[in-house]
Amino acid sequence: DPPLLRVEHLSVRLAGPAGTTPVLDDVSLAVRAGRTTGVIGESGSGKSMLAMAIIGLLPEDASTTGRILLREENLLGADARRRRQVRGREISMIFQDPLSALNPSQRIGRQVGEILRRNGSGRAAAARAAVDLMTQVGIPDPAVRAHDYPHQFSGGMRQRAMIALAVAGDPALVLADEPTTALDVTVQARILRLLRSLQEERHMSMLMVSHDLRVMSHVAHDLVVLYAGRVCERGPTRQVLRAPRHPYTKALAASVPAVRTKSDLVAPLPGAPASPLARPSGCPFHPRCALARPRCATEVPALREVAPDRWTACHFAEELA
Ligand code: SF4
Ligand code: MG
Repeated sequence: DPPLLRVEHLSVRLAGPAGTTPVLDDVSLAVRAGRTTGVIGESGSGKSMLAMAIIGLLPEDASTTGRILLREENLLGADARRRRQVRGREISMIFQDPLSALNPSQRIGRQVGEILRRNGSGRAAAARAAVDLMTQVGIPDPAVRAHDYPHQFSGGMRQRAMIALAVAGDPALVLADEPTTALDVTVQARILRLLRSLQEERHMSMLMVSHDLRVMSHVAHDLVVLYAGRVCERGPTRQVLRAPRHPYTKALAASVPAVRTKSDLVAPLPGAPASPLARPSGCPFHPRCALARPRCATEVPALREVAPDRWTACHFAEELA
């Protein structure tokens, strides 16, 4: 199957006082139909900006090059009206903070019901379907809780309500930006399970951005590793975590006990994450890389396929294999 979404050579620059600054540089990735692609990166790596570019909510002064293809349609070339349409019907988004997406002055059941009505259900049918959907996302006593306002819900229940909103319109693609970061670990695990089962039942595609590799190892079929606005590695999650082909991924994987790899080739990550606003020359990871050589400071490594479906942007990837 061709992927549902393809991002091709996407670069994004934001206007600033001293000209424009790059936040994403030549990013390419795919989201397969009915599968999850995880985008992992430290804060400032550009991962949220990537989600905003896909859903069409970049700041007005952003300039973009490249393509974002939903099926065969280039969303970067679509007008504002079409982007809104895509946002309502085909792509939805789950945020870290559900209060930013929920209307504080409208009952939860009504908010979910309105999305269902937009898709053609009558009022009574939509109200019933809203309660069904609230049941599906694990909100207890949904017929009663449908009458609550967002502030009457706990953090975990609000996240479930936002998930109900995000899937109510039956989107082909759901974007999730750190959807469980604000929750405690037990609730986090339940929400991730919920997302996975909804995805399987509804055959949705999902693109989840997170700084948490453990989260990714639970939900992402494919993994994209971002560093300073560039892709350093991508491939099937299990393969990437078991046998990373980039020193940054290797260091990340080694820092998470549950996904620790055997090799001790790379020491824990020293130094601060690079900001795309002050991206180091050559390989942006070179100031922190244990394998760096002179060439790394001057020559930007291209993303290249080093094994079937395994892409890496490191001059010396072969030494990691
Ligand atoms: Fe390290 Fe050089 Fe590879 Fe960059 S290109 S990850 S600095 S070895
Ligand atoms: Mg972010």
